[in-house]
Amino acid sequence: MATYRGRFAPSPTGPLHAGSLVAALASWLDARAHGGIWLVRMEDVDTPRCVPGMGAHILWQLAACGLVSDEPVVQQSSRGALYQASLDQLIAQGNAYPCGCSRRDIEAALQAAGVTRERHHAAVYPGTCRPERGGLQGKPPRAWRFAIEPHRALVHWSDTRLGPQTQNVATEVGDFILRRADGLWAYQLAVVVDDADQGITHIVRGEDLADNTPRQLLLQRALGQPEPYYRHTPLVLGDNGEKLSKQNGAQPFDADHPLAALQQAAQALGLPPAPGSGVSEALRHWVSAWSA
Ligand code: GLU
Repeated sequence: MATYRGRFAPSPTGPLHAGSLVAALASWLDARAHGGIWLVRMEDVDTPRCVPGMGAHILWQLAACGLVSDEPVVQQSSRGALYQASLDQLIAQGNAYPCGCSRRDIEAALQAAGVTRERHHAAVYPGTCRPERGGLQGKPPRAWRFAIEPHRALVHWSDTRLGPQTQNVATEVGDFILRRADGLWAYQLAVVVDDADQGITHIVRGEDLADNTPRQLLLQRALGQPEPYYRHTPLVLGDNGEKLSKQNGAQPFDADHPLAALQQAAQALGLPPAPGSGVSEALRHWVSAWSA
């Protein structure tokens, strides 16, 4: 049996809020309850959105809560060569192709095909630059996309909290981006390459990321990587009923009062309140509750 290796993978675009602490705590507890290794990985591939010094601030917030990576923290920004090697493999296998479409081209193609979409719902790429449709046809290449094979598009997976899940990646997402037009690596590719490179066996993260899982499974299958277990944890809603997120201005959790912040996170995970007044004691209590 593979040794348990889990991770928490924040993007240093803002401080951790009460919702991110739930995911951090759940991934740590699950690792400890399995006698496993827990890693922190800084997902700073989207460099324009990253805030200088935020990685260190996040590690400080976590350490205040007794959550410290068992191995040196890996930074995605220094791992471009690994992502390139995997993209090269996908290209060589025919699983990736260059795309010359701008956002406006995609909108125009969807409109011409009579596709209407709900507001705020990302466009499903219509496949304009797929090799069998003539490829770039003289357009300069902009991004690299994953070529979804129709017979693999329907993905079934089982989440250890949410149960059986299904997504048709071709019709619900389309050929997704691996490397962006601005040269930045896409989250989907970076996360899959890093999880495999770091030998991650169990992924515990917020439920807002659940619908990324089928894309990541398709990439793992194309790259010949083992599939980790997935568990998506409950989201924390703000007073307005919306999920807490950096985008809607969620406040950082109060790392000067870590026990109170942890109690709240534990409650969101359905764990009993911890007795005592110490962080380590509380964490020990929840590890046994998590294993029970
Ligand atoms: N970096 C991602 C985020 O902060 C999480 C990635 C993951 O856990 O798969 O939303």
